[in-house]
Amino acid sequence: NKTILLNNRPEGKPTVSNFEFLTDNTEIEIKKGEILLETAYVSVDPYLRGRMSAAKSYVPSFELNKPVQSGVIAKVIASKNENFKEGDFVSGMLNWQTQQVSNGEGLLKVDGSKAPLSTYLGVLGMTGLTAYLGLNQIGKPVAGETIVVSGAAGAVGSIVGQIAKIMGLNVIGIAGTDEKIAMLKTKFGFDAGINYNTSKDINADIKKLAPNGVDIYFDNVGGPISDAVFFNINRFARIIICGAISVYNETELPTSLSVQPFLVKNSALMQGFIVSNYADKFPEAMKQLSTWLLEGKLTYTETIIDGFDNIPNAFIDLFEGKNKGKMIVKI
Ligand code: NDP
Repeated sequence: NKTILLNNRPEGKPTVSNFEFLTDNTEIEIKKGEILLETAYVSVDPYLRGRMSAAKSYVPSFELNKPVQSGVIAKVIASKNENFKEGDFVSGMLNWQTQQVSNGEGLLKVDGSKAPLSTYLGVLGMTGLTAYLGLNQIGKPVAGETIVVSGAAGAVGSIVGQIAKIMGLNVIGIAGTDEKIAMLKTKFGFDAGINYNTSKDINADIKKLAPNGVDIYFDNVGGPISDAVFFNINRFARIIICGAISVYNETELPTSLSVQPFLVKNSALMQGFIVSNYADKFPEAMKQLSTWLLEGKLTYTETIIDGFDNIPNAFIDLFEGKNKGKMIVKI
């Protein structure tokens, strides 16, 4: 059995040396009420960077020399718990471990015959819920409006753009490579895209693509990309602050545009979003996302990395933009 522990806290960009691999060959016994799980898929997510630091946040920091945890899909390989049988697949917050014992608390059964198991970490998991609820609860989209999505080719962004298209919006995505921009338009139906790495002036590019201004900004990245969007917001614009990956590895808080004048001038709303605050809306959101998937209105892409030992690298690669859609490690 292999485990990945957080060995020391990253300073700046995470590296493999922040993690420690342990191997333990003793056979795992389970007691009454417990199940033995074998990991099948591991989700790596930008927010884990926050949990690796000691700073106080909305989820507690990981403890040093303890297993790292994230969203995992696992197979029940032995059960002494009447709610689970051998062969069931479950999803939950679990350790970066090839096998582990659980009492079943907090685990959801998932059905691989209804949708590929990995999708319960992506479009039918936290990612899809974040896209759907962030956009609807804070963005309140109206057909005909214009939305800009940053981190557009990633797990959350690619779903946000598609939902906005379903709702009749004009959708502009911002991402890091020409290949990603092409994918936004051909695979996900975005109307336009901006490559922030090659754009000479993101603000001017947005003006060109959205001459009537931006009504909703779904922000996954923060930093200068977001500053460029703020210059283009309309009266009563809604700004969903979902994430700020461009600053997660900064050791000093970056200085950026003073956003208040833009908000005041436009009576705009800017609100931080955390998906777990909307748990009461998960069933409704899941129902809608699965329906759209079945109807072919929604699609997704995944970057699947093979092998347990590659989990830390897959996580680190998120900060290099190596993924398209949801980054997942298959064990
Ligand atoms: P993604 O799949 O979008 O992966 C991260 C992407 O971010 C990369 O592919 C890369 O794409 C982009 N990126 C990396 N570094 C930078 C940078 N310096 N500037 C701009 N873009 C960068 O991850 P998720 O979809 O899982 O998450 C997206 C955001 O949403 C994150 O900020 C995350 O923390 C947040 N989130 C928040 C939740 C909540 O409840 N609040 C829940 C889930 C996610 P590129 O090539 O385009 O640079």
